[in-house]
Amino acid sequence: MKNIGFIGLGNMGLPMSAGLVNSGYHVMGYDLNEEASLSLKKAGGEIASSVAQVVEKSELILTSLPSVKAVEEVYLGKEGLITNAKPGQPLVDTSTVFPALNVKISEVCKEHNLDFLASPVSGGVIGAVNQTLTVMVGGSQHVYDEVLPVFQVLGENIFHVNEQIDSGTTVKLINNLLIGFYTAGVSEALQLASKKNIDLDELFSMLNVSYGQSRIYERNYKSFIAENDYNPGFSLKLLRKDLEFAMELADESHLALPISKSLLHLYRSVEQEGYGDQDMAVLYEQVK
Ligand code: NAD
Repeated sequence: MKNIGFIGLGNMGLPMSAGLVNSGYHVMGYDLNEEASLSLKKAGGEIASSVAQVVEKSELILTSLPSVKAVEEVYLGKEGLITNAKPGQPLVDTSTVFPALNVKISEVCKEHNLDFLASPVSGGVIGAVNQTLTVMVGGSQHVYDEVLPVFQVLGENIFHVNEQIDSGTTVKLINNLLIGFYTAGVSEALQLASKKNIDLDELFSMLNVSYGQSRIYERNYKSFIAENDYNPGFSLKLLRKDLEFAMELADESHLALPISKSLLHLYRSVEQEGYGDQDMAVLYEQVK
């Protein structure tokens, strides 16, 4: 399987596609944004002008899309993947969406005799660039086995959670709930340190070898807060979306999760103030 289609060439999709090109795959990409498409061309991929053209030239199609609406459009839309794909061309969504959407797409795929995996990823842009992502896959074992060599190009830690299509998404939403907690914790802790005249670089050196250490502290501080640059990365609005999905799972499970609920309110209000397109680390600037 050497010809891969890739739909959604944003912060994650572009480096994932470039990684496939670097590893000897031919990648046919598609994005609504012309600039994103041109970036893939520069990285050695080919650009399609429609979903249908991607399908025509690809043995396997991956997607990395920013919202439920975009995923529905690309898979279920009139000119979408399911209308165009043929049996034997697996469709693999790496976006983070609500689990019920994985189930809906999987059911429509079954009606069309198409294979589908819901395979969200973690590790951020850095993980996509370095091809070290963690991939959490839900779906049939035989489709997973077929796609595994491609997952192993994208990432270092590949998990087939189980055959339930939304199982990878559930794990990913739990991961992102923790990211929401850590990002808020780092933001408030560093604001307090600043007020108490503690140098933030020195604080990082000390806490990085203490129990206050976390990968999110390292990422948010080193790449964004210390640089005073909040170009994403992982945008705050995408994290807010994932927290909404996690809270829907909590509601379904009759769990109150009061701290998670107040976190979601915090991220919603910062997004409403106009910070949604900046990296999630910008929360630090908003908790003074
Ligand atoms: P992004 O907004 O940077 O990129 C999304 C891309 O999809 C954009 O280039 C956009 O033009 C394109 N797009 C939107 N609708 C489209 C359509 N109908 N047809 C074709 N292209 C379309 O988002 P991202 O940060 O790359 O995230 C993508 C997915 O990966 C999201 O579901 C996100 O939650 C998840 N994710 C992101 C990160 C991260 O660190 N950024 C990490 C893990 C998972």
